Amino acid sequence: MSSRSLARVAAAVTFSATLAAGLASAPAAAAEEAVLNLYSARHYQTDEALYANFTKATGIRINRIEAGDEQLLDRLKSEGAQSPADVLLIVDASRLWSAQQQGLFQPVQSTLLDQRIPAALRDPAGHWFGFSSRARVLVVNKAALKAADVPTYESLADPKLKGQICVRSGSHPYNLSLVAAMIEHLGEAKAEAWAKGVVANFARSPRGGDTDQIKAVAAGECGVAVANTYYYARLMRSTKPEEREIVARTAVVWPDQASFGTHLNISGAGVAKHAPHRQNAVRFLEYLASDEAQAYFADGNNEWPVVKGVVVKNPALDALGPFKADTLSIASIARSTPAAQKLLDRVGWK
Ligand code: FE
Repeated sequence: MSSRSLARVAAAVTFSATLAAGLASAPAAAAEEAVLNLYSARHYQTDEALYANFTKATGIRINRIEAGDEQLLDRLKSEGAQSPADVLLIVDASRLWSAQQQGLFQPVQSTLLDQRIPAALRDPAGHWFGFSSRARVLVVNKAALKAADVPTYESLADPKLKGQICVRSGSHPYNLSLVAAMIEHLGEAKAEAWAKGVVANFARSPRGGDTDQIKAVAAGECGVAVANTYYYARLMRSTKPEEREIVARTAVVWPDQASFGTHLNISGAGVAKHAPHRQNAVRFLEYLASDEAQAYFADGNNEWPVVKGVVVKNPALDALGPFKADTLSIASIARSTPAAQKLLDRVGWK
């Protein structure tokens, strides 16, 4: 792709300054240039060190295109076989599944990745691998509810919580994955009855992101919200008085600690279907599974590393404490997301 046509495509999305030099693409038969084109939905300060260390260790320069998950998928699709993308880095089981279904990844065989990344957190065929994990928790208004009022996801359907629940749209990947996990655990009929009960308890029709739900709980608009842990951890680490106040008024509840555990999801990456620098792409994924990169990668968004034994010193995550995580495989959650979307439509979780 010429730098001129690339610039046209790039104009639609946010991208890093490194792109100004143009993304390199190698002829298929030639030896690979020391370049990696990374399409990433991440945008954290600590990632600069992550990428710089990879370049230092391998001599492979990283060109980044940063955009939202959906934008990246749309872009890859429209670029087709001409895409310069080597690695696609996105979040959530349902999105990784969607990218896989659309044929945007190619399978990777790597003994190192298979050994380092738990089997439940990667695609069995090697299309994508989880590199950090996040949990979907309940956040209560301390003046309105106690942890014992919402010990499980199932309890969100209890009629005593009528008018108390704030949660984002049912079509959002985070809720699709959660409901898919509930289908896996309860079966579709019970999961549907549950989701119907949750919708009946909504404080308002879904709008905004997870942080908006937490804010609404702190403001007393609802008693309990559903949110990913890193949003809450971000508020915990904030120095803004209004955000400290949100944390003071709320508490995190780990649901289903006595049963299957709290729903866990991942940020993940895979090698793009038409990667011009396939070997570099595999090297990059293997680098992300190293102890050092794992710590940077997870901490950049207040998440947990996936590689066993890697510890992140993150005061917010430490304060949230240990919890029992659901061990359901991300691939099985992903497979149930189409059924979850239909179920959510049927129960009117807009
Ligand atoms: Fe998020």
